[in-house]
Amino acid sequence: MTYTSYFRPGIDAMEGYTPGEQPKTMDIIKLNTNESPFPPAPGVKQALLDFETVRLRRYPDPVSSVLREEIAAMNGYGPENIITGNGSDDLLTILTRCFTDEHRAMACFDPSYSLYPTLANLQGAPCIRIPLTDDFDIPDNVLEQAAGANLFFIARPNAPTGNLFAKAKMERICAEFKGIVVIDEAYADFSRDNCMELVKKYSNVVITRTFSKSRSLAGLRFAFAVAHPKIIEGMMKMKDSYNVSMLTQVLALASLRDPGYFEKCVNEIKANREVLAEGLRKLSFGILPSETNFLFVQPPKNAKKYFEDLKLKNIVVRYFPMARTCNYVRITVGSAAENAALLKATEEILSC
Ligand SMILES: *Cc1c(COP(=O)(O)O)cnc(C)c1O
Repeated sequence: MTYTSYFRPGIDAMEGYTPGEQPKTMDIIKLNTNESPFPPAPGVKQALLDFETVRLRRYPDPVSSVLREEIAAMNGYGPENIITGNGSDDLLTILTRCFTDEHRAMACFDPSYSLYPTLANLQGAPCIRIPLTDDFDIPDNVLEQAAGANLFFIARPNAPTGNLFAKAKMERICAEFKGIVVIDEAYADFSRDNCMELVKKYSNVVITRTFSKSRSLAGLRFAFAVAHPKIIEGMMKMKDSYNVSMLTQVLALASLRDPGYFEKCVNEIKANREVLAEGLRKLSFGILPSETNFLFVQPPKNAKKYFEDLKLKNIVVRYFPMARTCNYVRITVGSAAENAALLKATEEILSC
């Protein structure tokens, strides 16, 4: 059969986003996509057991009213400052569609979350990629480089590098960039501070947070954004009518209502992070400071080979072959047992 493509040329030309692999078997140690080693809060399981399936015949609340009330209160905002999404990727897509087109560029750093340029491609928008400095920090001339863009995606802490840009630098960008600044705080729960209060000062700032990492709910797909009510209003027009399912709303709420469990998990991951970093340091790895639930590390041997050797031992981490990142691997902080297994396997790999 002959095939004729009717796609927009940009779609045929582009690669598409490559998510980290999700192996089918459970017998591997999976440290490649920054999921939590802990189960979701016990209340999530209870809410699932208690959920009456007859409710599914109705559509969900299109704007997640209860969740927005509670998220707003927890963060010192009103529900008019909050929008919920099917994971933060959904919110990033909505933002791209709201603020970029052929004539309105996106800006983002390199290296950073590789979904950002993919979203620009999908939208047919130019993407200005601003190289981070050699130590993965924001360059001094960032505003000159980003000039002309209408949307600036900044992951803070950054991924895959794990470092936290200085808040003063963030604030300067928010104050001076002529467009929307999205601060993607997917990992902020693991870091020493965050930029949530900048939304009170700057009407061009959007903060995104996800339940995928710190709340052990990557499979659920839930995230929220915080911004000026006018920005939220515009994003509401752009989103799918029912972008957050009823089950997602029920289970996300159950997670939110157990702050004690959440804190315990985050603290344990931060403690495990330091143990893992110390263990790898002893094995002569270069370790970048991490404010996340992963480590971005330079192995003492070829990074790609180390990544492959780990895989042969059923341990999956993430390798990014691009120029700036090809000498590193990114390792999710797992449970104490998983981290110990990684260290043991690493020792074996290095000794042969
Ligand atoms: C994991 C990650 C996300 C995606 O989060 P979801 O809510 O699961 O879509 C967004 N941004 C960064 C920087 C991430 O690492």
